Amino acid sequence: MNRWNIPNWLELEVIERDRCCVYCGGKFSDKNGSRRNRASWEHIINDVSIITRENIVLCCIGCNSSKGAKSLVNWLDSNYCITRGITRESMAAVVQSVLAAKI
Ligand SMILES: [Zn+2]
Repeated sequence: MNRWNIPNWLELEVIERDRCCVYCGGKFSDKNGSRRNRASWEHIINDVSIITRENIVLCCIGCNSSKGAKSLVNWLDSNYCITRGITRESMAAVVQSVLAAKI
């Protein structure tokens, strides 16, 4: 388990799936790259008890800190998303599934 209580099998599966940020599609930088482009663990629905392959994703630190405690729907209306062209349609399939399920 990592510090978010994500079991190893799930962590490996998500790392394999999310090769770039699920929100902005940005390529992750390595430790020499800029901090905001590095990968971080994210719960799409901000509930740390939902530890499933549908809710655990990797996104860049920039998106993660912008989203913070906002719900996905509210965050989509933020300047951060608007200026970067982040929309429901532009996000990764795993995120779109969450949106589809909630609406
Ligand atoms: Zn991002």
